[in-house]
Amino acid sequence: MQLFNTIKELQMYVRNERKQGKSVGFVPTMGDLHAGHVSLVEQSVSQNDITICSVYVNPTQFNDAKDLVAYTRDEERDINLLTAANCDACFLPSDDVMYPGESIVKVSFGNMAKVMEGAFREGHFEGVGIVVAKLFNIVQPDSAYFGQKDFQQLSLIKMLVKNLAFPITIIGLPTVREKNGLAMSSRNNRLTALQREDAGLIYKALNEAKESLKNRCSIDSVKKQFSKTLKRKDLEPEYFELVDSESLNAVTDIGEHDAITLCVACFMGNVRLIDNMSLFS
Ligand code: AMP
Repeated sequence: MQLFNTIKELQMYVRNERKQGKSVGFVPTMGDLHAGHVSLVEQSVSQNDITICSVYVNPTQFNDAKDLVAYTRDEERDINLLTAANCDACFLPSDDVMYPGESIVKVSFGNMAKVMEGAFREGHFEGVGIVVAKLFNIVQPDSAYFGQKDFQQLSLIKMLVKNLAFPITIIGLPTVREKNGLAMSSRNNRLTALQREDAGLIYKALNEAKESLKNRCSIDSVKKQFSKTLKRKDLEPEYFELVDSESLNAVTDIGEHDAITLCVACFMGNVRLIDNMSLFS
């Protein structure tokens, strides 16, 4: 696998590959890779001639400075995992490479970024929008791969590509889970072994809520039961929302929507975890 730290070198590589008519798949990450990231890389490898992964902890999407500092960085381990997954190139830029000089241009997503994650992590999606737009311009891939684990992020990136006419196909892939159902996340390493086991309850509670909604229980009662279930294992819910899968608007009448997603954020101790589940699939 080839490693690049500068935009110029990466673009020379991409240009050369493109001249040979090769298609380019791209997987943006913040490193500390796990099987969820690897599933995106493997899908890209299977669908494209070359796959490029970026590993960059983007400071502008952290609303909590402590969270940014605590984010695990392990370049060597990431490189080994990407090499094993047959990734062709890895882009590892510094902050100076990604944010040279003054940044005055903003990406704003309107109301879609004001709910759920956006409501609790101020400025988060503006940071995601800017860094993803930059990475798209740098790499210029044919396709880019994202996890459904970050459901709201995936929706906003689809809007970014549509609204700004990026000639890129966005591919969303299913959440990879631990044996107990806990969605894989770089944050899971901050949990104790017991907390990690207990956090499997998030997935069970989502399944339980889905069943109850299918059995026509009211949204209010399902929300109350969901909180109650999580609290059994000291999981503190931050939000639990039923949203229209396209618009992200809150759902009040299930019958009026073609696709609905159940979205949750909760704390296990001081570790914030998110997950989601489609209601109809
Ligand atoms: P991150 O490094 O957390 O920014 O994530 C990079 C990409 O990996 C994003 O598109 C995430 O949605 C995706 N991802 C993270 N966790 C998972 C998972 N458990 N399953 C599938 N994709 C994931």
